[in-house]
Amino acid sequence: LRELVANAVDATQKMKALAASGEFNGELGDLAVRIELDEANKVLKIIDNGIGMTEEEVDRYINQIAFSSAGEFLEKYKDQLNSIIGHFGLGFYSAFMVAEKVTIETLSWKEGAKGVRWTCDGSPEYDMEECAKYERGTVITLYIADEEKEYAEKARIETLLNKYCKFMPVPVIFGKD
Ligand code: ADP
Repeated sequence: LRELVANAVDATQKMKALAASGEFNGELGDLAVRIELDEANKVLKIIDNGIGMTEEEVDRYINQIAFSSAGEFLEKYKDQLNSIIGHFGLGFYSAFMVAEKVTIETLSWKEGAKGVRWTCDGSPEYDMEECAKYERGTVITLYIADEEKEYAEKARIETLLNKYCKFMPVPVIFGKD
């Protein structure tokens, strides 16, 4: 969660920088990172309205690593992931520590970009397709595995957010309000 929120904050900060430099002249909107939890279905979403990713960027930043030696490394050291994540820029893949399936739905800030949906169940195979996403930014959806269902509990998420995501340069909002 910490890694995914950090990525979302990062993407949002980049959006601010693009606006400040004049490269982006559109509506920034209400910049925030939102966390939504569906406890009953064990689904956790991390939502941002940052820069998003084009299909090519998903390929470069998300796909390639899974098939590289880094991917094998991750598979091998799964159990010790907590202590090594962050050091190697593999933050996103830590989602698979608790999720049996992860989707990325993203729309880049770039003009003419199309929505992209990436789905992966943790195996080195993934699906990538165009999707109907019309708001800039990224939604990461974690389908939490049964064995890890404590991570789909509201109190647990609140504790984690308080511990690791408190003083962020962008508001991190939990819940729908
Ligand atoms: P790191 O953040 O250390 O570079 P990650 O595996 O966490 O490594 O993420 C890989 C890359 O994927 C990021 O550097 C960024 O380019 C892209 N990315 C991940 N999450 C997001 C997001 N929410 N919005 C835009 N880009 C993202």
